[in-house]
Amino acid sequence: MSWKKDLKIKRLRSRSILPRVLGICFVDALVIAFVLFFCYLIFLGQITNYLFSSHKDSLEIVQSVNTSWQNNTAGLNKEIADAKKRNTNIQDIYIIDDDLQILNSFGSEPISFETVFMDEDVQEDLAEQGMVRGELDVDEIALSFFNLKGKIKSVINLNKIVSEKQVIDSLSEEILFPTQWVLYKTAINNVNVCIKNCYPITAYSYNVVLVICICFIGAVIITAIYELRKIGLYIIEQKKINKLVSTDTVTGGNNKEYFIQKAAKIIKWQRKCAIIQLRLEKYRNFCSAYGVKSGENLLEDLYGKLADSVTRKELVAHLEKADFALLLLYKNSAELNDRINAIIRELTTVRKLQHLLFSAGVCDVASKTDDINDLLTAAGLAISKSSDSSGNIVWFNEAMKEEQIWERRIEDDMENALLNHEFQVYLQPKYSTKSEKLSAAEALVRWIHPKLGFVNPGKFIPIFEQNGFIIQLDDYMLTEVSKLQAKWLSEGKQLVPISVNVSRAHFTCDDLAEHICRIVDRYRVPHQYIELELTESAFFDDKDVLLTTVKQLKSFGFKVSMDDFGAGYSSLNSLKELPLDIIKLDAEFFRSVDDLPRSNLIVGDTISLAKKLGMQIVAEGIETREQVDFLAQQKCDLIQGFYFSKPLPVSEFEQRAYTK
Ligand code: C2E
Ligand code: MG
Ligand code: MG
Repeated sequence: MSWKKDLKIKRLRSRSILPRVLGICFVDALVIAFVLFFCYLIFLGQITNYLFSSHKDSLEIVQSVNTSWQNNTAGLNKEIADAKKRNTNIQDIYIIDDDLQILNSFGSEPISFETVFMDEDVQEDLAEQGMVRGELDVDEIALSFFNLKGKIKSVINLNKIVSEKQVIDSLSEEILFPTQWVLYKTAINNVNVCIKNCYPITAYSYNVVLVICICFIGAVIITAIYELRKIGLYIIEQKKINKLVSTDTVTGGNNKEYFIQKAAKIIKWQRKCAIIQLRLEKYRNFCSAYGVKSGENLLEDLYGKLADSVTRKELVAHLEKADFALLLLYKNSAELNDRINAIIRELTTVRKLQHLLFSAGVCDVASKTDDINDLLTAAGLAISKSSDSSGNIVWFNEAMKEEQIWERRIEDDMENALLNHEFQVYLQPKYSTKSEKLSAAEALVRWIHPKLGFVNPGKFIPIFEQNGFIIQLDDYMLTEVSKLQAKWLSEGKQLVPISVNVSRAHFTCDDLAEHICRIVDRYRVPHQYIELELTESAFFDDKDVLLTTVKQLKSFGFKVSMDDFGAGYSSLNSLKELPLDIIKLDAEFFRSVDDLPRSNLIVGDTISLAKKLGMQIVAEGIETREQVDFLAQQKCDLIQGFYFSKPLPVSEFEQRAYTK
């Protein structure tokens, strides 16, 4: 899976609930803060209103004192009484001199003012009561409320208006709003007005505060319920997404992403477990016969059976196509093999009328930190190695991985290798049995890799045969051989037929014979000097195409030989049906030293049979004099093998073939 896809799925699945909840809480906090601020404004408005009205009346009193203090005491008394009546918040009024001596009292109780310096205790007390704001010098007294600082400041500067006791007492008199003392200077020298304001809480104010509080608490509760519901819905939705992301659309069970996530957690806790990839073979075939819907139903049923056969600590998922993944706990490999076999047996019962075939790749979990994706790939790789001989359960091993890495490397390099002429033609001479003279040759490819050095065909031909690159390589070899033959012909040399190998992959194209003809004709090489070696396995693919191609090649004048004759199963059949020119006896005939007389008997009879059919015989892989003598005795025509020569680079072959 690409990292982008991985990231997308992770994001989808793990959209964490916490940030979302925090976000909601943050929005709520904002709403609450706003409501609080609003309440505060209402509150403040009411209090400010009190203070302003008191202040206005207080200024009128000061004005009265200014005009009536000296000559109209009776008028002053009346005006003050009126002002007190008008404004019930104004409780007591004292006219005092600058030394705080009371000159006239309109108060309800006898009182005296004395100088009090603020020590720290008094300051703290006042601060606790909300009476003092800001830093004060020790010799200052400040009584300040709310925003009317400017007015109150004049009191502060005077310093000496109330005793500590009076302040503290007056505070305890009221429930919410303490008494406020305000001192105004008058226009008359040494005469000041000191007014005691009191702001009692009225029933109306109580109600307002109560209603605001109830509304506020109500708003918070409603918002909280609404938000909790939102969070709940979000969690449910997230769970649904998680389920969807981890559900396989074909079987309705777990999918690969879920398997990877969950398995990574399981292997951290379990001691011995293995990842198994289980494949229903020939699924496509099943779909072709019974339809895709039936195929999917089958997969669903198989998933159900698999889910039933694992424990709660184990895991199952559908990967893709007809592949399933299992995580199984086990004690030893024999026990696990038995268990997988039992599971497979169980699966085959899912369809009574149809024959179901399964194979499994097993990869042991070696460490708790293993990457599940890698383990699945390894198990998949093991499956691809299953064959009739290895059985249907294959355990992954490191050699498989190395093989795969090698294959990757070869596939990455092959195209450039062809362009850079890293593939070289080696020629292995074929000697006449009678004269023991070089009479033909086979072109064999060698890869001179810039980094790996000399690479044997056995290490890359099977890979090319699988990926189809062999077609390009064979064309290249045929071209190179044609060029060589053309060169030697132009130099007046006596040519010998050179055979090139034609892989079975070529037989997918209908005009193979024409194609070969075109390449050879480009260099004007007489066709009898080019021989084409086909392998018997090509015979299994499409008999008709092979037959037509062989006939066509022969009609163009090319020689056609059957390579590795005797290595396959239907040799005699192919002999009967294909009009071949040459048969190359497989080297294996001469390797079986266990029962030499028996082997010799078969070789002898095969040679005589081929002769009767008018074919030439070449024996491959001949390494000893005895073998040469035996083949000469049996009238075999040509011998190819290390006894005479290994495959040679072109220059060495030239020397051997054309230097006397
Ligand atoms: P092949 O076509 O049957 O070639 C004969 C193989 O036997 C060659 O192996 C050759 O080196 C080896 N050989 C010959 N004499 C002896 C001997 O006395 N003793 C032993 N032990 N081996 C001997 P090589 O070159 O490794 O090629 C292996 C196979 O690779 C070839 O088998 C052929 O099937 C394939 N191959 C090689 N070159 C090409 C090519 O250009 N195209 C295709 N399609 N296949 C090729
Ligand atoms: Mg060959
Ligand atoms: Mg051969």
